[in-house]
Amino acid sequence: MNAFSYARPRALAEALRMLRNGAIALAGGTDLVGLMKDGLARPASLVDLTGIEGLRGWSHGKGRGLRIGALTPLVELETSDALAKTMPILRESLRDAATVQLRTMGTVGGNLLQRNRCWYFRDEGTVCWLKGGSRCFAIDGENRYHAIIGAQECVIVSPSDLVPALLAYDAEIALTSSRGTRQMKLADLFVAPHGRERREHALRPGELITEVRVPEAALARRGTYLKAMDRKAWSFALVSVAAAAKIERGVARDVRLIMGGVAPVPWRVSAAEKALEGTTLDDAACADAADRVLAGATPLRDNGYKVTLARELVRRALRSLVA
Ligand SMILES: Cc1cc2nc3c(=O)[nH]c(=O)nc-3n(C[C@H](O)[C@H](O)[C@H](O)COP(=O)(O)OP(=O)(O)OC[C@H]3O[C@@H](n4cnc5c(N)ncnc54)[C@H](O)[C@@H]3O)c2cc1C
Ligand code: SF4
Repeated sequence: MNAFSYARPRALAEALRMLRNGAIALAGGTDLVGLMKDGLARPASLVDLTGIEGLRGWSHGKGRGLRIGALTPLVELETSDALAKTMPILRESLRDAATVQLRTMGTVGGNLLQRNRCWYFRDEGTVCWLKGGSRCFAIDGENRYHAIIGAQECVIVSPSDLVPALLAYDAEIALTSSRGTRQMKLADLFVAPHGRERREHALRPGELITEVRVPEAALARRGTYLKAMDRKAWSFALVSVAAAAKIERGVARDVRLIMGGVAPVPWRVSAAEKALEGTTLDDAACADAADRVLAGATPLRDNGYKVTLARELVRRALRSLVA
């Protein structure tokens, strides 16, 4: 690991000043420190955000939606009974994410911004396309865990369990830097690496995520999160699905269907959601939606199994909304 300076400011303004001067944000450190140990991140200075109290916790003002501070530990979202009543999908999505130790250290902001788990990427000595090299080693190499859809030069998959759940509820994020604040749809944070875009996130240099916001209207949806893993614990999703809809007199409205583990970004196909509007989410409609979501899938040598898995997981997730 390279030598670096470390600061733990109490005020957001101080943290932003340090970030403007090139420091890198540190939250729970569960991803960043691993990247540093492996020589994949070499920050000259770190700004530890955990001393900034105003960025932790969540609140739900009736009619004003849900707000979750970016520094909130994942375990807090998972264990809060009050939050489980407001937005049960959060607990569902986090239950099988990493381990309880990692969920205790890991934060919401860090989870959204975690880097991909491609083994070529995580190997310090391998300079693949995403790291500035000329080729992706996964496309013709070991690609059991890689993308089946939506990928171009780089076949990573979106690793987060929390993200699909938040996207199914139309989440937005608040961002701040020394140049000001802005808000964006959470979906716009994610970049499928291609062309000159050799990155996974659309965060600007020196910018922090301060908050995740879920609009009140979305909280009326029923939601579910399903995750397929190759072992029962400590495992990233082979495929995951977040499904949500308002169920009015047995009929689905405002359907959302987001997949993790299949594409470089959380995968959403509007045509599949539209086809489900006004249906009773019967078996035929759910199977049809699953086909639409995976219509463009082009699996690699070792990951054809993901197509079958994804299709079945989508069908089950949708059916469970009316079970
Ligand atoms: C063994 C293992 C298994 C795992 N399994 C899963 C899993 O099954 N599902 C899953 O979803 N995740 C999994 N993870 C990932 C884990 O959830 C993330 O490492 C964690 O959420 C990152 O949060 P953190 O606070 O520790 O982030 P850090 O490591 O501190 O930071 C990660 C990145 O985010 C940036 N950052 C952090 N907060 C902010 C902010 N507020 N604004 C701007 N930038 C910020 C940092 O600069 C850094 O680039 C696993 C991790 C490990 C090590
Ligand atoms: S999938 Fe992306 S990160 Fe992995 S080897 Fe290919 S270019 Fe690199």
